[in-house]
Amino acid sequence: MSIADNIKRVINNIGEAAIQSGHNPQDIMLVGVTKTVGVEQAREMLQAGVNNIGENRPQELLRKYGALTKNEAGMETSMEANIKARTRWHLIGHLQTNKVKSIIGQVSLIHSVDSLRLAEEIDKRAAQIGRVVDILAEINIAREQSKHGIYPEKAREFALLLLKLTNIRLKGLMCVAPNVENQEDNRKYFAQMRDIMIDINKNLVHNENLTDLSMGMTNDYIAAICEGATIVRVGTGIFGAN
Ligand SMILES: *Cc1c(COP(=O)(O)O)cnc(C)c1O
Repeated sequence: MSIADNIKRVINNIGEAAIQSGHNPQDIMLVGVTKTVGVEQAREMLQAGVNNIGENRPQELLRKYGALTKNEAGMETSMEANIKARTRWHLIGHLQTNKVKSIIGQVSLIHSVDSLRLAEEIDKRAAQIGRVVDILAEINIAREQSKHGIYPEKAREFALLLLKLTNIRLKGLMCVAPNVENQEDNRKYFAQMRDIMIDINKNLVHNENLTDLSMGMTNDYIAAICEGATIVRVGTGIFGAN
């Protein structure tokens, strides 16, 4: 199957899962995760109509950003200009504070904010370039040792601290659920994510409601959508297992 065929299938699955669970397919964003592939395959994905690209390492995000928004001669032809204009870049992996400065100008949404120190650094660097940067708070929903993120019971307190920073905009929550055989086993975690967001919103004034849940990967995005995901992050489902 080609990359374009895979994308069609994923988009179809997203649409069906949304409709069957009473959600609007248009409210669900597909982030194509290119961390295991090179520039050519990433370009193929963007040209097949995926406008949101996710990388988990800052250096690799910058490398692909450079290669996809300029041609080999360092020029911007209409193809590069088109890609540049419509592509949004997502940092989905763990971010070290000393890497924030390098990506702050390129990134559209940072999914993986897991400490106040990191949030403060993003806020500071965003202020320096006169931007307000969208972020998500990462929750370690299944309390796994191997994963990053805030524990569920600390989520509300963390969100309220992030909302005080004026050059970041907290849009919602993100999680990486356990690696399971049967995605139904992750539904309870996705439901908990939704409940945490509802709980946080009860403690906010109306105009700053959180709206986004970035949850669901190749193996569990259908279950995530059924529980209210608004962003799914799919790599293997687009590019195959390498
Ligand atoms: C790699 C990665 C994905 C995509 O995983 P697939 O199983 O290949 O779809 C999604 N989110 C994060 C944070 C990742 O690191």
